Amino acid sequence: MTGRFAAALAALLLALGAAGARAEPPRAAADMTWLEFEAAARGGAVALWALGAMEEHGPHLPLDTDVIIPARQLERVAERLAARGVKSVTLPAYAWGVNHVTSAFPGSIRVRPEVMTELMVDVFDSLAQAGFRDAYCITGHYDAAHSRAILAAVRRTNAQGRIRVRYVAPEPLGRRLGLTPESPDALLARFPPPPAGRPFADLHAGAGETSAVLHVAPEKVRRDVAPRLAPTDLSEAQVAAWRQGGAAARAITPDGYLGAPADATPEAGAAKVLGEADAYADAILAAKGLAP
Ligand SMILES: [Zn+2]
Repeated sequence: MTGRFAAALAALLLALGAAGARAEPPRAAADMTWLEFEAAARGGAVALWALGAMEEHGPHLPLDTDVIIPARQLERVAERLAARGVKSVTLPAYAWGVNHVTSAFPGSIRVRPEVMTELMVDVFDSLAQAGFRDAYCITGHYDAAHSRAILAAVRRTNAQGRIRVRYVAPEPLGRRLGLTPESPDALLARFPPPPAGRPFADLHAGAGETSAVLHVAPEKVRRDVAPRLAPTDLSEAQVAAWRQGGAAARAITPDGYLGAPADATPEAGAAKVLGEADAYADAILAAKGLAP
């Protein structure tokens, strides 16, 4: 009798465990079955997509730096949205972005902007077909040509009217692209200010990004190299010339970084990665009329 009771109890606990697993479906689309994906879409989940690039990041950071940082940030965004009752599904991070500035370096994969735009339009169309009505994308790759390819895809998709997509961009980048808080295709995220550091630009594989990778994937940082890299300390005119890209950019930053990698710390990386993710979440929640 006792044995039979124990077996029944074990079966009940097993069933409860399975039910518990079903009650909390995965948020990563890659882990879902098509049935879970469809149920999430029809149940009002928003789609989240990180759009990065395979790009050189100096002699100390991996080529997927701009992919792994926004991918980690979307995990945080999904948690923040869930806490306010917004369900979400995160697509696999996109790695084949547009490299203009660093295109002269090996490892910066050169995808034509129109190819990326076409691919994104097809992905959004598939999301609409599945039943998604809202999608938000972010990037970890701040090359303006990459953002313009994203915006072109978002605008074309929204013109079709089957799904509403918004590009959630850090405010300074958004302004450079001509976006305003009234832009129907974008949301401007207010990132926390970077920690006080050197009074020079830190734009690429410098203290900021090196810190971020130390937080997201410390095993990927060449820790024997980063502390020995001298700061670039470029003038504004040199930064403007660097933005022209190609051979000019490689001549100005021959090692492939612009900033001060040796100043990086994991603590600064955690503050940057999570602070920016919270800014993305705040922007999305505000667009949905929800308090942060
Ligand atoms: Zn980067």
